[in-house]
Amino acid sequence: MTNGGRRYDVLVVGSANADLTVRVGRRPGPGETVPGSDLVESPGGKGANQAAAAARLGARTTLLARVGDDAYGELLLEAQRAAGTDVGHVRVEAGARTGTAMIVVGPDGDNAIVVSPGANARLSPEDVAAADALIADSAVLSLQGEVPWETTAAAARAARRAGTRVVLNPSPVPPHDLPHDLLTAADPLVVNEHEARLLSGVADGSPADRAHALRRRGARSVVVTLGADGALTLDDEGATTVPGVPAEAVDTTGAGDAFTGALAWRLAQGDRLGEAARLAVRVAAVSVTRPGAQTSYPAAEELG
Ligand code: ADP
Repeated sequence: MTNGGRRYDVLVVGSANADLTVRVGRRPGPGETVPGSDLVESPGGKGANQAAAAARLGARTTLLARVGDDAYGELLLEAQRAAGTDVGHVRVEAGARTGTAMIVVGPDGDNAIVVSPGANARLSPEDVAAADALIADSAVLSLQGEVPWETTAAAARAARRAGTRVVLNPSPVPPHDLPHDLLTAADPLVVNEHEARLLSGVADGSPADRAHALRRRGARSVVVTLGADGALTLDDEGATTVPGVPAEAVDTTGAGDAFTGALAWRLAQGDRLGEAARLAVRVAAVSVTRPGAQTSYPAAEELG
């Protein structure tokens, strides 16, 4: 094993959602109704997406999450199994609704999303406490913002105790500051430009300025994803600019999750941060050329 002898390369503690997607020719304004395409139901949720991205690439991956005992829960479990994720730690919650994301995709491939957390809201610090051994048996723990922040923070603390590397994608950004012990566990903190601005407090400045500010605030290392322009990494070795890979974008839903799942896999395999980000940009570029989130993620052979 190249990941330090641990059973899993990537453990994701996070959300699983059914994505309900409609394409529109034009976004509705407040109080306005516009016609859309047929509804598409597909597996999503930031945690599940990152797990699927890593597993599709060949990472030994498992997911600690909760879904409801409805049809969407089944859809999500099936998608994880198909990607190759070990689903033994996904709990089906009796009487709960599976989380859902209502996604409107505009003509340029950009999206606007409303999330209903459902069973994700019940993923608790107790679930994390029961998974101590699992965390210690994983090279990288990948965390996001769609489950309760106290759960995410508890997972980060357990990972630090176990020497498990934490990849934190704090999205959606909380209305309060990130818990400090969560920020200081992040190695890296993975943010898009919008999140970098919010969390760094740097209103006017470059992505590099914001990355430096986030390190000063406590993140061990930082990755800022830059959409079509690629990504920027910053760690003890300095800053690396990773150019974007040109792609014909049809749907950017889940592109950041493809990036983060791929990054987590490469870090588990011992890549340096800049090197891992280079591969992650290639994976995310493929994902934007296909519709959906998990349905758009490539296997390693497809990277060319
Ligand atoms: P998020 O999807 O989280 O908002 P970004 O928009 O920064 O984050 O996209 C994440 C990654 O997806 C980028 O770093 C890049 O690798 C890839 N990506 C996104 N949009 C495009 C695009 N139009 N063309 C090529 N790659 C893209």
